[in-house]
Amino acid sequence: MTDYSTQKLQCYCCGKASEHSVLMSSNSRGSPDLDQRPPKMYRWTIGSWLQECPYCGYVAPDIDKGDAKARKFFESDEFRVASLDPSPDPVTRRFLVRAAQHAYQGERRLAFLSTLSAAWVADDANQPTEAASLRLRAARHLEGPRITSIDTRLLLLDVLRRASSWEAAEALAVELAAEELGYPFAEIVAFHRDKIAARDDERYTIGQALEGKPPPALPTTAEDQELIKAIARHIKIVPNPRRT
Ligand SMILES: [Zn+2]
Repeated sequence: MTDYSTQKLQCYCCGKASEHSVLMSSNSRGSPDLDQRPPKMYRWTIGSWLQECPYCGYVAPDIDKGDAKARKFFESDEFRVASLDPSPDPVTRRFLVRAAQHAYQGERRLAFLSTLSAAWVADDANQPTEAASLRLRAARHLEGPRITSIDTRLLLLDVLRRASSWEAAEALAVELAAEELGYPFAEIVAFHRDKIAARDDERYTIGQALEGKPPPALPTTAEDQELIKAIARHIKIVPNPRRT
């Protein structure tokens, strides 16, 4: 169940009040996509993830909140350029303004994620060319010093595959495969490699990538067996609390 409420908020940057539809609650059921887009119902609330002041164009999750860094960006040329983005969809533009703020503040992972959210809006609007272009734009935020986070590199792998950037996707998949990652990362990389080889740029969930691939059973050594027996003996001598 998704619930919204209309609230009058005072803009942190210009001080003017405007009404906004604020998400009060939602739920999600199922597996997220490989790019961690949440499952429904929450996925359909994307239009409310960011607010925009209709007077000055300030964009934030809550426009009545901010800090000195947000104000500095608001006063920058980068903000003006991002605000004039010709994107026809206001939700997409809001994510791009937010991405510009993260990039301005040197937060490249967050800039990548905000641009990826913009691509999701294009996915929903059935604009595959725009979505692919936004995914490549998201990927560009991660250029530069090597990214060490496995999580971010797996997201990038999905972004490159879905943008049909086959060579870059394969190169990243080979790099990740060589790192001998454990469950479930290795399985997800292998899933991507199959899809890349088939030139498949469709959306898949994490659940689909791990289908039929349960976590490996922990190896049990003779020592473990002894420990298990000792625990079993202990359980027998400890009285059942419901009977006492
Ligand atoms: Zn404002």
